[in-house]
Amino acid sequence: MSRSYNKESEGSSGNKSGSSADYLLSKTYDPAAEEANWREFWRQHDIYHFDPHDGSRKTYSIDTPPPYPSGDFHVGNALNWCYIDFVARYKRMKGFNVHFPQGWDCHGLPTEVRVEQTFKIRKNDLSPEKFVELCRELTVDYIAKMKKSMNLLGISSDWALEYRTMDPSYYKLTQLSFLQLYNAGHLYRGEHPVNWCPRDETAIAEAEVVYQERKGTLYYMRFGTTSEGIEIASTRPELLAACVGIAVHPKDDKYKAIVGKTITVPIFGQKARVISDDEVDPRYGTGAVMICTFGDKTDVRWQKKYHLPIIKALSENGRLSVDDPRFRGLKAEEARKKIVAELQSKGLITKTEPTQQNIGTCWRCQTPVEIISRPQWFMKTQDLTPKVVEWAGKLDWVPPFAKQRLVDWAESLDWDWVISRQRIFATPIPVWYCAKCEAVIIPDEEHLPVDPRKDKPPKDTCPKCGNRELRGEKDVLDTWMDSSITAAIHAGWPSKTDLFAQLFPANLQPNGLDIVRTWDYYLLVRSLALFGTAPYRTLLINGMVKGTDGRMMHKSYGNYVPADDAINKVGADAFRQWAAAGGSTGYDIPFRWNDLEYGKKFLTKLWNITRFILANTTGTLTSKKPANLPLLDRWLLGSLQMLTRDVSEAFETFQFNTAIEAIRNFTWHALADDYLEAIKHRLQPGRDPADLKATQYCLKEALLTVGKLLAPICPHMSEAIYHKFSLGKTGSVHRENWPEPHETVDDASIRDGKLLLDLIANARREKSSKGLSLGSNIKKIVITTGAEHLHLLKENEETILRTLKADSMDLERSPSSSNPLKEPSLGFKVEILA
Ligand SMILES: [Zn+2]
Ligand SMILES: [Zn+2]
Repeated sequence: MSRSYNKESEGSSGNKSGSSADYLLSKTYDPAAEEANWREFWRQHDIYHFDPHDGSRKTYSIDTPPPYPSGDFHVGNALNWCYIDFVARYKRMKGFNVHFPQGWDCHGLPTEVRVEQTFKIRKNDLSPEKFVELCRELTVDYIAKMKKSMNLLGISSDWALEYRTMDPSYYKLTQLSFLQLYNAGHLYRGEHPVNWCPRDETAIAEAEVVYQERKGTLYYMRFGTTSEGIEIASTRPELLAACVGIAVHPKDDKYKAIVGKTITVPIFGQKARVISDDEVDPRYGTGAVMICTFGDKTDVRWQKKYHLPIIKALSENGRLSVDDPRFRGLKAEEARKKIVAELQSKGLITKTEPTQQNIGTCWRCQTPVEIISRPQWFMKTQDLTPKVVEWAGKLDWVPPFAKQRLVDWAESLDWDWVISRQRIFATPIPVWYCAKCEAVIIPDEEHLPVDPRKDKPPKDTCPKCGNRELRGEKDVLDTWMDSSITAAIHAGWPSKTDLFAQLFPANLQPNGLDIVRTWDYYLLVRSLALFGTAPYRTLLINGMVKGTDGRMMHKSYGNYVPADDAINKVGADAFRQWAAAGGSTGYDIPFRWNDLEYGKKFLTKLWNITRFILANTTGTLTSKKPANLPLLDRWLLGSLQMLTRDVSEAFETFQFNTAIEAIRNFTWHALADDYLEAIKHRLQPGRDPADLKATQYCLKEALLTVGKLLAPICPHMSEAIYHKFSLGKTGSVHRENWPEPHETVDDASIRDGKLLLDLIANARREKSSKGLSLGSNIKKIVITTGAEHLHLLKENEETILRTLKADSMDLERSPSSSNPLKEPSLGFKVEILA
């Protein structure tokens, strides 16, 4: 009888504590206890430490996206981090000195909005210092929460490299990059229309505008006099005050006569010139449209093209700023109602109809954005578009289709990047102005960081006009200005040491498909301007997670699952299997509790296999491959080679689902169902010691290899297995070398072993179809097969008899052998004589 699963036995094969009795794993697999134990072990031994002085290993640098510290870490975020961690762990085992930092993108609207919501205040209710203090406090709390979730998930970042963009040591570098871009002519200050959130009272970038379908009303309004008038349809009567022109299509015969004339705008009374332009859709409304400064981007283009005046009818808080006291100070929505009522009372509304609109809204607060013109800082990103497109083509994209998203986005941009924000909790723009001539005064690099909102200017007088009155910039930088240079900062920029050359550009840029247009674009455009190169080499893009209801996971849909909830239920390793197996890299994946449970089930199976192998491989274990292994041993080792080759290839190409499926298949079927079942008899007492050694060698080899191949995806379980067989060299499986497949695979043994296993499976089916239990003894097994198999089966007679518990075996040559090598299961006829 083989040693049972539960029986304690003396003679440890070695373990981390060195005691001789605990080489067996606990009876049941308890992920919570097991995983916490290993996380503490990793922390204590600083397993994931990046060594900047290690010249013996090549570096592999990961530019981890710094998340906004929101406190939330849902399963979608966790998917992103799992991908990163799979790569980090794999590369470490491949011998790389892996640079895996984690930072936090602290500044910006998300935090400010949260502070406003949490404390029920608006940004101007407090002094800027007090407001920033609240932002910092909230940020620190949220970072702690998210860090805890990342640790729970078993992420192997090196916390010694942690950074926060709100720290002066960091934002000093943001300011340095501003000065360098300014000096190189990539930045300018100017008054141009930009997207504007009236709630948050700040400019926002095009990338921060989210389009939403909303219902609206189309109002048909009379302009001009009864003799010379025109009917115009618009969804935004509140912009009448800013109407500076009327556009019609050049081929629209209805309006040919009035092109070039001016028409009086109702209520507000200004004159609007009628222009004709191809961009007008003659089928929309009446075919005549208002040009307002600014209703949308077309208005911006037309205002420039036709040199129309600018009327600023909306103030920065989104309220009407007109002379007429009836409408002054009203919010856009209220103003619309009042103006419509006024028009109606004068009989100037001829018709209304419901309409579907695609409205640009603020990414943070969903307020419809306006277009407002005021002085802003811009980066000349449009000039860089050809370069961005060229570089996008030089990079490795996983999956390849993600590249087009970036290219399409870059080519669609028709405004430069507005980098100034009218907010508080952000990196100050390091600039002062002359109050008289508006000359820009910048500080010396060595005086950074600076805060022109409170610091004294670097000069006493204007270098241009000598004026003594200078004022500090109150606007701050877009948070992307902080976070789009992380790769260089990790590498030690502005010091350009050898290490910088090794770490920059980063080897890996991992992020979600949803931010290719923003994140990857800003990183690229910024790095091209600052460093003349892309900041990354390979982009690893993950898809989005769909909730159990099939919709994208979102808090407002009620299908949102915090990562901690899922991990606490099934364990991190089971969760990570879901992340790996859920789908092909770059595609959306569904969140299904069943998949998580399946992951846990697999680990329980592996746990039990490990316990069985541990119980049966005590005593003198050889790590040297014994000579003359029997067929099934050669088959197992050959299959293991193939597995190693397939899994390595999958990790090299970032196909994590292929890797995990191959490992689970091998473990569950080849190792447990086939091999273990077929060799159990060889573990029984009184067997040939050489044969026992061979089996033990194979079991150990298979288990340790599976453990290593599984290490990137299931780091805790792999560590547990490794420590039970502790070879004591490196102390952690995560510092072990990745298994290398042999150059040649023993194809003959794989083919013959498969044949033998098929025969055994066939005979078992036959046995059970006769109502016999698998463990019951049988008198004889009669096998009819082709001549080419007779020798092989004769050679393995003992295995066949013992596995099937048969007393004897008859081999008969089948009269008309098909090609059993191609269809081995058809090559036998098995008869059981009980
Ligand atoms: Zn907003
Ligand atoms: Zn001046």
